[in-house]
Amino acid sequence: MFKIPIVTPLHKLIKRYLSNGEKQNLTELPSNLKNGLEGYLKQEEVVIFTLRNYRAMYIAPRWLDSNTFFNSWFIITNQRILILRNSSSLKIFRDIPFDDIHRANYEMNRLEPRITIISSDKEDRIDFLSDAIRHCENIEEIFNNALVDARERAKTSAAGDTMFCFNCGSKIPRKSKFCSECGQELIQ
Ligand SMILES: [Zn+2]
Repeated sequence: MFKIPIVTPLHKLIKRYLSNGEKQNLTELPSNLKNGLEGYLKQEEVVIFTLRNYRAMYIAPRWLDSNTFFNSWFIITNQRILILRNSSSLKIFRDIPFDDIHRANYEMNRLEPRITIISSDKEDRIDFLSDAIRHCENIEEIFNNALVDARERAKTSAAGDTMFCFNCGSKIPRKSKFCSECGQELIQ
């Protein structure tokens, strides 16, 4: 009798491996990625949240640029969202600064919890493993706090580069000699 081989799609294999195989740590980066990431982070950037995801889908403005990665790492820092490939060295799949993010949707009641991050003209859909659901409980709060905090910091640092003309009240670059609006001479 001729037997038709049953081919299991790759993503199902990965999922099976991740959920049934040796219990893997879903929240702690492997040391090689951790080290690589440390070199990638900016000054004063700290990692707030790390969770292995089952699938990360990037929907780009051009369909050709869109991409999907299975079994990657979802990371929230105090400045951005990073998605790392789960390889032996640091490979960044997505780098989404908070100031580029319009909003995020949370679908935590799905079998595989999902976050959708909407930026100006792109979208990222991150699906976590059903095993990871207990790690997702506070994700909305963590995400929002980081986002608000980053926006506050951006405001303060922008404020540091500007000042107000005492004559007309216009916002002008700090250390200006004259107001660009009213021509008032400014004493530093
Ligand atoms: Zn002025």
